[in-house]
Amino acid sequence: MRLSRYFMPILKENPKEAEIVSHRLMLRAGMIRQQSQGIYSWLPLGKRVLDKVNAVIREEQNRAGAIELSMPTLQSAELWQESGRYDAYGKEMLRIKDRQERPMLYGPTNEEMVTDIFRASVKSYKDLPLNLYHIQLKFRDEIRPRFGTMRSREFMMKDAYSFDLTREAAEHSYNKMFAAYLRTFDRLGLRAIPMRADTGPIGGNLSHEFIILADTGESEVFCHKDFVGFDIPGERTDFDSVEGLQAIFDKWTSLYAATSEMHDEAAFNAIPESERLSARGIEVGHIFYFGTKYSEPMGAKVQGPDGKEHFVHMGSYGIGPTRLVPAIIEASHDDNGIIWPASVAPFDVVVINMKAGDEACDDTCELIYAALTKAGKDVLYDDTDDRAGTKFATADLIGVPLQIIAGPRAVANGEVEVKDRKTGARETMTIEAAINRFVA
Ligand code: ATP
Ligand code: MG
Repeated sequence: MRLSRYFMPILKENPKEAEIVSHRLMLRAGMIRQQSQGIYSWLPLGKRVLDKVNAVIREEQNRAGAIELSMPTLQSAELWQESGRYDAYGKEMLRIKDRQERPMLYGPTNEEMVTDIFRASVKSYKDLPLNLYHIQLKFRDEIRPRFGTMRSREFMMKDAYSFDLTREAAEHSYNKMFAAYLRTFDRLGLRAIPMRADTGPIGGNLSHEFIILADTGESEVFCHKDFVGFDIPGERTDFDSVEGLQAIFDKWTSLYAATSEMHDEAAFNAIPESERLSARGIEVGHIFYFGTKYSEPMGAKVQGPDGKEHFVHMGSYGIGPTRLVPAIIEASHDDNGIIWPASVAPFDVVVINMKAGDEACDDTCELIYAALTKAGKDVLYDDTDDRAGTKFATADLIGVPLQIIAGPRAVANGEVEVKDRKTGARETMTIEAAINRFVA
């Protein structure tokens, strides 16, 4: 992508409305724009990051055996009347009428709809387990939308829904998502700690929130320090192994970890003081097992091996991609801007032409740009005629992990500089070596 032809509306000034660093940096880097309260456009740079976050989420959901589909944002009120939640949900639900005066709503979540899809076609235990997910916009009319896309009214959610014949089987499905979440957040460069959570209106007694520690987090959390160093399940985790996944779950729930709603002061104080961690956190995911709460009222049942009909045991599993983007920034930035983990960086590398219009600089940059693009890298080429200082500031602000800097003096020697955004380390090398560093 040539910067001169890209759309990346950088702000020079700090936006006054932004209270936390991630919101400030997302606005300054031209990633998002608020359209009305708590409702955002994702501008091209932001959209790239969001897509990469979703790609990681999708890969790990698929690895764990979940199957992607797409459900609509607009739902009929009838489904919600069946489960009893239409009246129970309250003001967070945006209720709409169509031209026939039929009550509709903008989905805040999809338990009812996915249960409807399930009951229409699954009739036998032989088709279980089943886990269906989608990545879709949701709307919740939050009282206090704030911090940009961290808490917005329209936001994106990956929501998965599992269906099983028995509680034991449903617990295995739960453990699959538990392990998938550990892997997902790790790949996004985050240390997320599963904490026992209140099931609230969803019901049931098995629920975990995945929390990342950050000073700007909205939740108060308490946990054992050792979580920070726990091993993440590897790429070759066998998601069909009931014992293997139970062992992961047991390990990751062996120590104290709770949000303030579930906090047990006495249990926390039993941990030696030096091993206690009390901090603020951001909820990036939330998983529930809720048994037959929706399958019973909505009549979602299958024939079991005993020939009888059984209401299916369900769970739901949410991750917020549009909250994850600012959460990643909260965890990874410095005074100059964002520092993206490679897995979600909008570009792999930015090529900075220090003297656009100079033949040697132009040729060198074009050569590198073409070679890296050909190698399948996402390359941003700063071919503008901005001042060097502006170019450096922009490259640092948008947080691309590596910068290749081509200035007239180095180029005359057949060299460029490669700068690591995170460490700031700069290395001069031949043009060929710079290319090979990315291509190899
Ligand atoms: P919170 O407690 O933060 O209001 P919640 O418990 O209502 O969230 P869930 O129903 O568990 O949220 O939704 C699953 C995930 O969706 C959350 O873990 C979060 O990552 C994301 N999410 C929920 N509400 C919002 C929101 N208003 N803005 C952005 N992301 C959200
Ligand atoms: Mg929650």
